[in-house]
Amino acid sequence: MKRLTSKQKGPYCSYCPDKTSRAVYREDGFAGHFACEVHKDDLCSREEARRRAEAAMTIADEQTWGKL
Ligand SMILES: [Zn+2]
Repeated sequence: MKRLTSKQKGPYCSYCPDKTSRAVYREDGFAGHFACEVHKDDLCSREEARRRAEAAMTIADEQTWGKL
């Protein structure tokens, strides 16, 4: 997660229902989600879930290739 600098004109928060809050944080990676200060934790858990999914995928790959 990256903190957007005040110089960067931030997009709106991906979690606020009304598009009024400017995002302060940006998810790592391509096409990331954005979050305002209030929704920082939401973005954090999103990244955490993605990391877990990626780790699970890697393990599944190893198991698949290990059987060959
Ligand atoms: Zn928000």
